[in-house]
Amino acid sequence: MGYETYCLVCGCPTSTGLSSVSLFVDQLKQCIKKCKNKRIENNWQVENIFYELLENNIIDQEEHDHLSEKENLLFLDKDNKYNWLSELYLLHKNGNIISVEPEDSWEGIYVDTNGNSYDASYILNEYQYLSDEKNIINMYDPLSTAFCGDGFIIHKDCHQLVNDQLPDFNFKNMCLQKINYNEIYPYMRSEMPWMKYFLNDKQYFLESPLNNNKNKKRINSIIESMKFI
Ligand SMILES: [Zn+2]
Repeated sequence: MGYETYCLVCGCPTSTGLSSVSLFVDQLKQCIKKCKNKRIENNWQVENIFYELLENNIIDQEEHDHLSEKENLLFLDKDNKYNWLSELYLLHKNGNIISVEPEDSWEGIYVDTNGNSYDASYILNEYQYLSDEKNIINMYDPLSTAFCGDGFIIHKDCHQLVNDQLPDFNFKNMCLQKINYNEIYPYMRSEMPWMKYFLNDKQYFLESPLNNNKNKKRINSIIESMKFI
């Protein structure tokens, strides 16, 4: 697939991978403001940001190397706060809800505890990346025989939240026509834009809605926007 798989409900990534973010968020914000090359604004991998700042003479080599040091980076997979991103269910198209882990979330591959492998289906908001041709749209329509993949990936914490409002939430009793992902939508990109969350003060998107009330409120408003057919 070559596109990160995002949670059906909250729109957040479904793994933390080996990603890191800088601990110097405020300093980086200032540096990025000074950068005249606007390419940096679409470059959200932390190492690319450092590289652009160096190339544009905003920081020197010594500052670049200092920022890149391991102790100055936060590795998301090493911080328990972000574990929930990789704790997932597959809402299988046969109606089962299967506990899975990401094997390669960029290729949409997930495995269960027995080692069975599943392909994640695309979520509906990705419509607008493709041509409007009906046969392509059908790949996204759970009612179509052209529907791709084994089902939708959802965080376990998000499943709990949606289940509170819509009991027995699974693939079969939902047939989503449209979800309004609102302010997280710009973050749902092919490559997960980790640093963008932090630079835009949206790091709470990446915290479990069961622990972070702001994120809970955001996700509940997405759940309310779900349209069923
Ligand atoms: Zn989620």
